[in-house]
Amino acid sequence: MSAPKTKLIAALFCCLASIAISVHVWLLIAHSGLWIVPVSLGAAILMSCSALSAVQKSRKMPSKSVVITTEERRSEDLARKDRDSSLPLHAFTIDLEDYFHTDVASQTVNHDMWDQMPSRIESSVRRLLDLLDQNNTRATVFTLGWVAHKYPQLIREVSSRGHEIGCHSYHHRIVSRMTPQAFRADTQLSKEILEDVVGRPVIGYRAPNFSITPGTEWAFEILESLGFLYDSSVNPVRHKLYGNHGAPRFPFYIPKTGLLEIPIATWRIGRVNLPIGGGAYLRLLPYAYTQLGLAAHKSRPATMYVHPWEIDPYQPGVGKGWKSHIRQTGGTATMESKLSRLLTSARFVPIIEAYEDELHHSFSAVPAQRLHSVNLAQVV
Ligand SMILES: [Zn+2]
Repeated sequence: MSAPKTKLIAALFCCLASIAISVHVWLLIAHSGLWIVPVSLGAAILMSCSALSAVQKSRKMPSKSVVITTEERRSEDLARKDRDSSLPLHAFTIDLEDYFHTDVASQTVNHDMWDQMPSRIESSVRRLLDLLDQNNTRATVFTLGWVAHKYPQLIREVSSRGHEIGCHSYHHRIVSRMTPQAFRADTQLSKEILEDVVGRPVIGYRAPNFSITPGTEWAFEILESLGFLYDSSVNPVRHKLYGNHGAPRFPFYIPKTGLLEIPIATWRIGRVNLPIGGGAYLRLLPYAYTQLGLAAHKSRPATMYVHPWEIDPYQPGVGKGWKSHIRQTGGTATMESKLSRLLTSARFVPIIEAYEDELHHSFSAVPAQRLHSVNLAQVV
């Protein structure tokens, strides 16, 4: 068998092993269907062994391949991305918060302690912005109101570097644990601060931990009444904290409102929606998993997300136990290189550009008296 053919077989086994490992870890994350864990792990080990053996065979064969450095390949990818408008178009988003604002950190750090925590947000955010610049990418940055209040200059810099600013609540409270009154007050405070800091309308909202779930639909009406035109809090997967697996996978208008819902990307296999939107799934699983999921998404934009603390392997430990430790810091050392690969694989734009047509429809459906001075052209 020729070397290229053997390498192809090795790559195929690697992909299959990646999927098996991914399903295995995903099931561990989602805490469901544990019966399949030993099966998927066994399949992953078998396929990895086959891939290794195929690679060893190909090494014994002479090859005339030209050595191309990673940097050269990256430059080629970027150049191709710039000229190739046929590359898939996706939405890239950031949930801008510090490492001690997360659900894991809330096990040991309460709101009263936030001011005393050693912040790492400025360096993480600037590294993330530089990475986006290097890949000619702009994003929607859902920002915590608390951060905008404390670091207004940082948020102004995010906006001035061409990114859309969205709202990620003020106190990072889980919506399903709040009353409608508390949700309204928290969201309104954050929106006002963000708009004051960047001097632009804020029209998009994302709930902490995608926590607008069945039973909290009242939140959509409140968002609409506060002047939001879209929400991106629905993650249509099975998960004990933010599962919303019965929701549509693609953008839809919330019934009886003009609010556009933009769900997080998923990969449909059979009757199951696998999470491929980024975050922990990109950090902890092999990159091939996200790559294959996005390939299946190519005919419609996928909405991806990341947090600044996910590229920071030196963040202080928060949370209790090894599971929390993995959820918060697992894969942070390799996340930046995975993001770099992701950003060269497609064209990524802010939500307002990826879903421009749908938002214009939403915009025209909103009664004029609620629009105030909102103009889509002013958002980015
Ligand atoms: Zn968050």
